Amino acid sequence: MISPSLPRAFHIMAKPSGAACNLDCAYCFFLKKKNLYPGSTLRMPDEVHEAYIRQLLEAHDTPTVTVAWQGGEPTLMGLEFFRRSVELQNRYRKPGTVIENTFQTNGTLLDEDWCRFFRENGFLVGLSMDGPGELHDVHRKDRAGKGTFGRVLRSARLLQEFRVEFNILCTVNSMNGDHPLEVYRFFRDVLPARYLQFIPIVERDNESGYQEGSTVTERSVRPDQWGRFLMTIFDEWVKRDVGRTFVLNFDGALAGWLGRAGTVCIFGPACGLGMALEHNGDLYSCDHFVEPDFCLGNILETPMVDLVASERQRKFGRDKGDTLPRYCRECRWRPVCHGECPKNRFVQTPDGEPGLNYLCAGYKAFFQHSDPSMRIMADLIRKGRTADGILGVPARAEAPANEDPFKGVGRNAPCPCGSGMKFKRCHGQ
Ligand code: SF4
Ligand code: SF4
Repeated sequence: MISPSLPRAFHIMAKPSGAACNLDCAYCFFLKKKNLYPGSTLRMPDEVHEAYIRQLLEAHDTPTVTVAWQGGEPTLMGLEFFRRSVELQNRYRKPGTVIENTFQTNGTLLDEDWCRFFRENGFLVGLSMDGPGELHDVHRKDRAGKGTFGRVLRSARLLQEFRVEFNILCTVNSMNGDHPLEVYRFFRDVLPARYLQFIPIVERDNESGYQEGSTVTERSVRPDQWGRFLMTIFDEWVKRDVGRTFVLNFDGALAGWLGRAGTVCIFGPACGLGMALEHNGDLYSCDHFVEPDFCLGNILETPMVDLVASERQRKFGRDKGDTLPRYCRECRWRPVCHGECPKNRFVQTPDGEPGLNYLCAGYKAFFQHSDPSMRIMADLIRKGRTADGILGVPARAEAPANEDPFKGVGRNAPCPCGSGMKFKRCHGQ
């Protein structure tokens, strides 16, 4: 019997080639994970592959199930592996279930055959790119030390030619972090791509590759730089691109203004619904915690549903809220931010409590800056309209930094965000 603690839907990011990659990107946090499996070929055997697909599909009663592929670099498995996957998915699919495959790639090995396969099987591709060539090539190099921009751009053109849906995953580091508009306009106008996500590089300075230590490498984006990067792009986006270019960071934050659980785990109140599956069947609490202490077990030995519903994983999920320092609990932006991702919580609050997010200053600045526009968009959505109604609305002044719209609101009073709910059920939670 399936445990009643099993969440209705959960997400597993499978790494069929483990940490193996054909590139050597300077900031990649995952390359060191191959040390977890010394001597391994880092290739998912068919036994694990079949167990993964079968158990994932059996565990879901939702209309849609996502099968997510990531790396390392999943193209290293070769096309046959994914043809077999589609076959397995068709074999174990419940009647009426729609299966969506997502595929994150560095884009250097894609060719016509890959693109044809993606198109025919409806794969959604995530392409890693850090902006125009001179910014992309700073860190995204191959093993010979050569920049990869030309190859990735060629792949983007192929994906477009074959009409494969793709989005851009852009990591923001200390180099491209100073060029927000150059990066954003390149994706919007030159590529062009409609779906973007920006990921801050916060790389701990240690040899293990685990989430330990409290210093970061020089490549890491600085907190103030991250804040400016987001604010600058937000200003351009909110003036002309809402509803046309989708920036996951802004959509995820807007969900907070609506008092809704968004699609972005970093801004959610809890973790625990997105796990990572290594090539040998080991299941980890999260892609960012592929470390021995966070290995829940192996799906060949313990059914995936038991690992997902385990007290250990539920505690991992709850810890996100339970370990927030007082500084965050009392922060006006907590309902939107929730202390962001626990992997980045390694600095001290001004009064010396550990566990503050390294990026806090940047996020505070961004939330403060975007607040007037976020409120307008949230209001439009609550009225049944779409957020792009903000286009053409004159910019509203930013509230003073120390003004807390939620301060002093009674628990049973209507929430000032305008949701129509009581404060205690909305932003007062
Ligand atoms: S640890 Fe970070 S990435 Fe993982 S689920 Fe939590 S917020 Fe998301
Ligand atoms: S903005 Fe900073 S203080 Fe506020 S919840 Fe986020 S991390 Fe915590």
